[in-house]
Amino acid sequence: MKDQFGIKESLNNLGLKDENPGSSTGQKWIDSKTEYFASMSPADGAVIGKVQVADEKTYETIIAQAQKAFETWRNVPAPQRGEIVREIGNALREKKADLGKLVSYEMGKSYQEGLGEVQEMIDICDFAVGLSRQLYGLTMHSERPGHRMYEQWHPLGIVGIISAFNFPVAVWSWNAALAWVCGDVCVWKPSEKAPLSGVACQLIAAEVFAKHNMPEGISCLINGDYKVGELLSHDKRVPLVSATGSTRMGKLVGKAVGERLGRSLLELGGNNAIIITENADMEIAIRGSLFGAVGTAGQRCTSTRRLIIHSSIYETVKTRLAAAYSKLVIGNPLDEKNHVGPVIDQAAVDMYLAAIEKAKAEGAKAVVDGGVLTGEGYESGCYVKPAIFEAENHYEIVQHETFAPILYLIKYDTIAEAIELQNGVPQGLSSAIMTLKMREAEAFLAVSGSDCGIANVNIGTSGAEIGGAFGGEKETGGGRESGSDAWKAYMRRQTNTINYSTALPLAQGIKFDI
Ligand code: NAD
Repeated sequence: MKDQFGIKESLNNLGLKDENPGSSTGQKWIDSKTEYFASMSPADGAVIGKVQVADEKTYETIIAQAQKAFETWRNVPAPQRGEIVREIGNALREKKADLGKLVSYEMGKSYQEGLGEVQEMIDICDFAVGLSRQLYGLTMHSERPGHRMYEQWHPLGIVGIISAFNFPVAVWSWNAALAWVCGDVCVWKPSEKAPLSGVACQLIAAEVFAKHNMPEGISCLINGDYKVGELLSHDKRVPLVSATGSTRMGKLVGKAVGERLGRSLLELGGNNAIIITENADMEIAIRGSLFGAVGTAGQRCTSTRRLIIHSSIYETVKTRLAAAYSKLVIGNPLDEKNHVGPVIDQAAVDMYLAAIEKAKAEGAKAVVDGGVLTGEGYESGCYVKPAIFEAENHYEIVQHETFAPILYLIKYDTIAEAIELQNGVPQGLSSAIMTLKMREAEAFLAVSGSDCGIANVNIGTSGAEIGGAFGGEKETGGGRESGSDAWKAYMRRQTNTINYSTALPLAQGIKFDI
C-alpha cells in the first residue's frame, strides 16, 4: 500500500492490522476461522486491510453474550450509562483525525467530510448524554378514584444495526449512542464495503466499556455481507433491527422482521429535489445545489438528484451550474484541493454509466456529460465526472435513485406544479426550496407541500444536524434516527395503573359484583 497522506500512521493509531478478526463482543475478538475479505480504497485501489467474515457459530456466540450483557446493562442507571457514552464521545474526539482519515480513504469522501462524519458521532454522544437524564414518560389522570396512571420506558434488549457504506461510522453512532443510554445492547453489522471503519469504532467503544468494568456484549461487531444481515433480521432474539441502505434491502429486512413481528427502523434511499423559484437568492441556490449534487460524489442518501427550476430563470441556473461544474477538481479525497472523490467501487461506476445511457435513451439532454476518468491519479478506476442532464420527472431513470453524481434539471411554471414534481417520485427523504418569498416557502412546508421527512428552506437537501429526527417517508422506509424523540424507537412503553384505594372499581364503570 502506498503511504500517501500518512494513512499507515492513522491505521496504526486506530489499532488496525493487515488482517483483522471481523467480529467481537467488545474487547474479545473471535477468530471465526473463515476467509478474510479485503477492504479496497476507491481512492487509489490499494488493499487497506482484511477482515474476517463471521460464520453462524460466531454469530451465536455474539448474540448469547449480548443477551447476557443486557441483564447487567439494563440495571445500570441511565445517567451512568450516559457517563460511559460521554467518555466514548471523548475517545472519538481524541481519534477524530485518524478516524476521519480512515473514513475518507476507505469510503472515498473528502477528508473534510470524513472529519465531519466523526464530528457527527461526537455530537450524537453529547446529545445522548443529555438524553440519559430525560427519558421521560407521561403521567395521566385516572378516571377511577384512588388510582394513579403513568407510563415508563424500558429498554428493548438487543438492537441489531445494519449500516450502509456511505456513512460507515456515523450511522452506527446515531443508533448505538441512543440505544446504549436507553439500556439496550448493540450488535452492529457494518457495510462489507467499509469494514475497517467498523473495526476501528469497535476498538474505541470497547476500551471505554472495559474501563468501566462493564461486561462483554454491550457493544458487539459482526462483519460480513448480506447473509450476516439476514441472520439479524430473522432472529427473534433481536427485537429491533435498524437498517440503513437501499430500498431493495429495506424491503427484504422489513419483511423478515415483520414476519416475526419484530420492530424495524428503516433508513433507505432518497430521490431528493431542490425547487429553485424565480425569487431565490441565486448565489445560495447555486452553491446549495452544487454541494448537494456533487458532495460525497453524489453518494449521500440526501444528495440532490433533481433541480426543479422556474422557467424564467431556467437558462440562468443551467449556465451558472455548468460553469461551476467546469471548475470542479476531481481526485484523491485526502488531498484537500480536490472537490470530488471517487465512487465506492467498479459496480458503482457501472451503475453510473448505465444510468447515463438510460437517461439519454429516454430523451435526456446532456448539459455536462459524464464519463470515467483515466490516467494519473485515477488508477483505481472509480473516478467519474459529475454530470447534468435536462430531463422530465416521469423518466424511469429520474424516478430511480442512482447513487452517483448525476443531476437532472426539470422546468416548472407554477409553485403548485413544482411541489407536485418534487413529490412525484417513490422516495420521500429530503427536499428543499430556494426562495425569499414567504408565501412560496410556506406553501412548500404546508400540509399540501413537501411529502418528505426533511424539508428545508434556503438550504440544500444534504447535511442534516443530529438534533432533528432524521429519516424519510414512502420508499425511504419511515424510520427516524438521531435527535428529537427518535429515542422512543429503542425502548418499549409500559402503561402502569396503580390502585391505592380500598375498592376495586372497574374502568368504564362496568359492574361485576358477586
Ligand atoms: P445496500 O442496501 O447495498 O447495503 C446496506 C447494508 O445492508 C449492508 O450492510 C449490506 O450488507 C446489508 N444488506 C444487504 N442486503 C441485505 C439483506 N437482504 N438482509 C440484511 N442485510 C442486507 O446499500 P449501500 O450500497 O451500502 O448504501 C447505499 C444506499 O443506502 C442508498 O440507497 C442510500 O440512499 C441508502 N442510505 C440511506 C440512508 C438514510 O438514512 N435514509 C443513509 C445512508 C444510506
